[in-house]
Amino acid sequence: MNTSLPRPASDAASTSPTTLIYWFRNDLRLDDNPGLTQACQQANNLLLVYCRCSTGWQMTRWNVPRTSRHRQQFLASTLADLTMQLKSRGSQLLEVEGSPTELLPALARAIGASTIYCEEIAAPEEQEEVAALRAAGVTVKTVWQSSLLNPADLPFALDALPDVFTSFRTKVERQHVLPPPPLASPQKIPALPPAYTILVEKWGVASRAISSGSADVEPTERHPAHPAGGRSSFPYFLPPFSGGASAASEHLHQYFDRKLAHTYKLTRNGVTGLDYSTKFSPWLSSGAMSAREAYAALKEFEAAHGANDSTYWIWFELLWRDYFRLLHLKYGAQLYRAQGLTSLPQPGHDARQFDAWCLGRTGEPLVDAGMAELNITGYVSNRLRQIVASYLVHDLGCDWRAGAAWFEAQLIDYDVYSNQGNWLYIAGRGTDPRNGRRFNIQTQAHEHDPDGTYRRLWNAL
Ligand SMILES: Cc1cc2nc3c(=O)[nH]c(=O)nc-3n(C[C@H](O)[C@H](O)[C@H](O)COP(=O)(O)OP(=O)(O)OC[C@H]3O[C@@H](n4cnc5c(N)ncnc54)[C@H](O)[C@@H]3O)c2cc1C
Repeated sequence: MNTSLPRPASDAASTSPTTLIYWFRNDLRLDDNPGLTQACQQANNLLLVYCRCSTGWQMTRWNVPRTSRHRQQFLASTLADLTMQLKSRGSQLLEVEGSPTELLPALARAIGASTIYCEEIAAPEEQEEVAALRAAGVTVKTVWQSSLLNPADLPFALDALPDVFTSFRTKVERQHVLPPPPLASPQKIPALPPAYTILVEKWGVASRAISSGSADVEPTERHPAHPAGGRSSFPYFLPPFSGGASAASEHLHQYFDRKLAHTYKLTRNGVTGLDYSTKFSPWLSSGAMSAREAYAALKEFEAAHGANDSTYWIWFELLWRDYFRLLHLKYGAQLYRAQGLTSLPQPGHDARQFDAWCLGRTGEPLVDAGMAELNITGYVSNRLRQIVASYLVHDLGCDWRAGAAWFEAQLIDYDVYSNQGNWLYIAGRGTDPRNGRRFNIQTQAHEHDPDGTYRRLWNAL
């Protein structure tokens, strides 16, 4: 990686005042991407950049890796799809490796870009990145675009966002606040800057191979919970998800074509298989599908086949997703403190118990099965997420932030807002503490895995 500055900013700036950069962060799609659309409208020349974060390979303070193999693979397939879509529109994605705060200013100087456009992300690390870019003298235009509802359409100011989800939802529904329709992809993607080939030679890194278990994907696991070979041990009924907008659109259509939305509320607490819940999350979280696209497909389905409790419940869950985003806009970094929004003391932690939990070796069969599924596939049901999170915090007495870090590494649908929000909720350190949500494991096993199929399946692997 070379971050040297090829020529002085003042020289470069005079070459093209309408050269811009679009920095893809978590919104890895062309459709319904308002920030990209704005950049395309403003630029004569547009450089499209993705920074592969070098911190992905590092260990966290909890002695677990930041990113697992399956998350890297899912991201690689998402980027491969984005690259393909851009190529079909006559453009290219420049993938660079390293810190955006070092690389983007250098790239901006190299092509004389006046402004960097990007998605606004309301989480502390991502906010720090933008602040560092601005401190380095770069003009950054951020666009909020990951929620279903437009925050400006809400019937209250963000600092008056209700601290209880039900109040939020009720206000939204009473005022008939609806999501704006998804935007089409930009009509025209401006030409690449003339120096593009030089940039690729100097900074570009080749796209990673995407096949499952590919040797080209660097193993990031330093933790024994990762069986060598990873996904080769997928059970037959749970095929690996493939990232990107093309797979997202295919998945969305097959879900509604098969009319699964009509039974969602009845099946959503399931634990085994693909069809019990929508499985939109891997694509929503990687930005390959927007929440508004999912909502538009839901409304189209209701118009064609009728609405019922189940179709309503998909909207209800998408509102939960929005709620955790809005809480970030309201409370920001406070959500990342050990005490969260409460005045509770620092949580305790037991590194040995935490390791056993990560490895799926707690001795509690339902918890161990859930952790095995998570570690092997990068996905586990909402029901099991609640159960294993509750067990870590309330039974093993560990720090909720360690659990959140393990989920961050493992989940192919990792989403900073939903992960933080749900862990805070389980730990009772969010907006609605009520002493946290403690799940009785025996009751949960009885209700959700009465004949032990799930436990046998995952504990046998
Ligand atoms: C401890 C914990 C951590 C979690 N971490 C994440 C995470 O990193 N990323 C993530 O996307 N979800 C997270 N969730 C929420 C939820 O488990 C997943 O969104 C859901 O299981 C994804 O599968 P699905 O798409 O089939 O969901 P469905 O049940 O089909 O729901 C449809 C969509 O609604 C949204 N949704 C549903 N439940 C929730 C919820 N509780 N919170 C926020 N949004 C929700 C998701 O976008 C989901 O794709 C977490 C839940 C818990 C308890």
